[in-house]
Amino acid sequence: MQFKDIKGQYIIANSLTKIIDSGRISHAQLFLGDTVSGSLALAIAYAQYLNCTNRQHYGDGNDGSLRADSCGECPNCKKYQQLLHSDLHLYFPTTTTSSVKSSPSSAEFQSEFREFLDHFNQRGSLDDWYEFMGVESKQGMIRERDADDLVKTLALKAYEGSYKVVIVWMADKMNGVMANKILKNLEEPLPGTLILMVAESRDRMLSTILSRTQLCRIPRSDGDGVLWAGEMALRKEWEQEFAQLYVTWMRQLFKLNMASLSAWVDDLASKGREQQKAFLLYAQEATRECFLRNNAGLPPALDFGDEKFNMSFHKMITIHNVERLNNAFNETIRAIERNAHAKIALMELSFSISRALKKNAG
Ligand SMILES: [Zn+2]
Repeated sequence: MQFKDIKGQYIIANSLTKIIDSGRISHAQLFLGDTVSGSLALAIAYAQYLNCTNRQHYGDGNDGSLRADSCGECPNCKKYQQLLHSDLHLYFPTTTTSSVKSSPSSAEFQSEFREFLDHFNQRGSLDDWYEFMGVESKQGMIRERDADDLVKTLALKAYEGSYKVVIVWMADKMNGVMANKILKNLEEPLPGTLILMVAESRDRMLSTILSRTQLCRIPRSDGDGVLWAGEMALRKEWEQEFAQLYVTWMRQLFKLNMASLSAWVDDLASKGREQQKAFLLYAQEATRECFLRNNAGLPPALDFGDEKFNMSFHKMITIHNVERLNNAFNETIRAIERNAHAKIALMELSFSISRALKKNAG
C-alpha cells in the first residue's frame, strides 16, 4: 500500500512520513480510527514506507499534496504490495468456521485475510471480515495462540534485513491473556521491530496496552484532518502553558502542599471544560512519556521547560504506578465529559496521583 492510494488522508500521511524521516519512530504505536477511513491501510503504508529502500520526496506538502511516499518498485515495496513480505506479520480477530472447527488463530486465516484486504482495498470493516469468513456469530477474538505466535515471531531475526513489523488489526479484540503475554514486547522491544496496533475505539482498549503505545489518531478524512492539524497547532501554542501547569501540579502533589494545591485546582476548575480536558489529556500523555523514557530507555520526547524537572521527574513513573495513573486520568476525563463537579473531580485525581507517586518503589 502506498500513501498515494489512500485518498483523503494525505495530511495524516504527511505527518507519518515526517516521523519516519526524522528517525524518531516509536516501537509500539496505536493507530486509532475507522478501518473504512483508512486506519489499517495507513498502518500498512507506514510500514512499507519504513522499509522502502528508495523513498520518494515530492515537496513540503503544505498545499495538501503528499510530501513523500514509498517507491512501489524496490524489492521490499513489491513484497509489501502483495502483503507477502516475510517481515510483515498480521494478526486479527478470528473465530471457528466451517473449515477451521476448533482453536482458530490468525495463522489459519492468513491467505483469506490477504484476499479480504485486497478485495476491500484494505478498508473493509470488521463486519465485512466476518462476512468474508462466512461466519454469523461475529464473536471474533485475538487469542492466546496469536500471542504465542507473535512473541516467537519477534524473537527471530528479520529475514530480509528490514524492519520486522507486526500489525494487530482490531487490537481491542485482544483477550486479556493475549494482551498480558505481549506486554513485555511492548515495553522492551528488540531492535528493528515495530508493533502497530489498529483499533477503532479507545474505550475498549485495555489500559495496559494504551499506556504502552504511542497514540496516532486517524481522522475520518482530510476534511477532519484540517481540523486535526488546527488542533495540533493550537496544542503547540498551549503546550508551554500546559507544561508549566503540569510541573507545578506534580511538585505540589509530591510534597502535598494543600494550600497551593487547592489554589491550583481552583484555577484549572475556573477554565472551560474543553480546556480542562485538553490539559488532562496532555498530562496523561506527559506521564506516559515519562514512563517510556524511564522504562524503555527512550530519549525524552517532552521538554517541560524546567531543567531539574526534565532530568528527574520521569524516575517517579514506573511499572508499579503507570497503570494506576493512566486509569485515574481516564476516569477524570470521563467525569469531566459527563459534567461532573470539576473541583471535586480534580481534587480526587490529585490525591490519586499523589498516592500513586509515593507507590512508585513498589
Ligand atoms: Zn520502495
